[in-house]
Amino acid sequence: MELSVDMLPERRQHMQRVGLPACNRPTIPGVVSQRACVLYGARWMLAAIKDALHLIHGPVGCAYYSETVRKKRYEVFSTALDEKDIIFGAGAKLAAAIREGVRLRPAATAVFVYTTCAAGLIGEDVTAICRQAEANLGVPVVPVNCPGFCGVSQGDGHEAAVVALLEHFIGRGGDGPPLAKSVNILGEYDIQGDLKEIERLLQRLGVEVLCAVSGRATVAGLARAHRAGLNLVHCGRTGRRLALEMEERFGIPWRKVSFFGLAETAAALRTIADFFHCPEKAIWLEEEIESAREKASPYLERLAGKRVGLFFGASRMGSMARAFRELGMEVVFCGSQFGCREDYAESRSRLGRETLLVDDAHERELEEFLHRYRPHLLVGGSREQYMAHKLGVPFLVFPQETAPYAGFNGFVNLAREVATFIGAPVWRLAAGSPAPG
Ligand code: SF4
Repeated sequence: MELSVDMLPERRQHMQRVGLPACNRPTIPGVVSQRACVLYGARWMLAAIKDALHLIHGPVGCAYYSETVRKKRYEVFSTALDEKDIIFGAGAKLAAAIREGVRLRPAATAVFVYTTCAAGLIGEDVTAICRQAEANLGVPVVPVNCPGFCGVSQGDGHEAAVVALLEHFIGRGGDGPPLAKSVNILGEYDIQGDLKEIERLLQRLGVEVLCAVSGRATVAGLARAHRAGLNLVHCGRTGRRLALEMEERFGIPWRKVSFFGLAETAAALRTIADFFHCPEKAIWLEEEIESAREKASPYLERLAGKRVGLFFGASRMGSMARAFRELGMEVVFCGSQFGCREDYAESRSRLGRETLLVDDAHERELEEFLHRYRPHLLVGGSREQYMAHKLGVPFLVFPQETAPYAGFNGFVNLAREVATFIGAPVWRLAAGSPAPG
C-alpha cells in the first residue's frame, strides 16, 4: 500500500490487504517499533507465578522495566549489575543474590533467574550457578535464558519461559491417571477477572481448571498440569508451543479456543463439551447468548457501522476482530507487534480479504492509518494511547483495565465500554478529530 509517511521499501511486505504480511523478522534498523524485548516476553509468561521468587540478573533498569507486566507490579529482585561486574564478572554476585533472596522470602517455592543483555554479554555459566544454588538451598533455582537481544521480539521470551516451565516444573508432580474432566488453559493471564468468568462457564459443563498458565499458576499446580485431560490454548503465541510439547511428552490433546465474543465463546464451550462427551451439558448456551445480546443491545445500536482499528500484542487479533464485528463494527485495519503466521492466518480467516493486516507497525505508520481510515476507535496497548488521543481518536486499551472481556458477560462489558468511549462528549471538542463521535 502507498503511505504518505516515509517508508522503507522492506516495510511494504509487512502490510497486506489480501494475503498474510511478512512477520517474525527482526525490526528493520532505524525503525522504532512498539515491540518489547525477550526478557519482557519471559516476564509476560512467568511474572504471575506468585509463590516463586523472581530475580533479574542484570542492570537495575532491566528489573525496573520488567517488574510491571500487564499494568500490574510484581515483586522482582535484581543483581543490579554495574560496569565493574561486566568487566570482572558477576557470578559471585548472582550466587549471593540468590541466597539473599531466599533469606528474605523463605516461603518461595522456586527461584526464577532471568538473564538480560548484560548477563548474556558476560557469558557466565548461569545454569551452573543456579544448579549449585539449588543444591545448597534445597529449592528449585531455574535459569530463564532471555537476554533482550537474543531474539526478534518478546515472542522469543515466551519460548524461553516455556523451556523453563517444561524442564523444571510441568510433570514433576508424579504419575497418575488423567484427572477426570480437567483442563489447563495455556496463554490465559486472568486480566481483570477474565479467568473467573471462563471458569464459571466451564463449571457449568462440569469441567475443572487444573492450571491456568500463567495467570493463576503455582509451582505445585504446574507440577500436576500433566494430568489434565485436555489443554485449551487461549493465546496462541504463548500457549501453542507449550500445548505441542505437552502433547508429545504427556499425550495431552489440545484445542485452540477463544472466549472473546459470543460466537467464539459458544464454539469453545461446545468443543469442550464434545471432547468430554457431554454435549447435553451445553444446552444452556443459547439462553446465555440471547441474554448477553439483550443486555448489550442498547450499545450495539450505537456501535452499528462504526469503524475500528486494532493493534495488539499478537494472538488475540483474530478472536478480538471477530468480537468487534459482533458489535456491528467494521474492522478497518488489524495488526500486531509480534504475531506469527498462524496468528495472521486466523485474523485473515475472521476478517476476509480487503482488511489491511499489518505486522510490527511503528508509530508514524499507525498515525497514517488513523488519518487514512478515520476509525471511530483505536484498540491497542498503552503505547499507542496518547498518539490516538492527540489525533482526537477514542482509544480502548487492551489488555483491558476495568472488567473482564471474556465470556458472555465480558462481551456485554466490552460493548458498554466501547459505546461509552466512542460516545464521550469530549471528542466533539477535538478539532479535526477523525472520529465524528
Ligand atoms: S533489551 Fe536488554 S537491556 Fe533492555 S531491558 Fe531488555 S534485557 Fe534489559
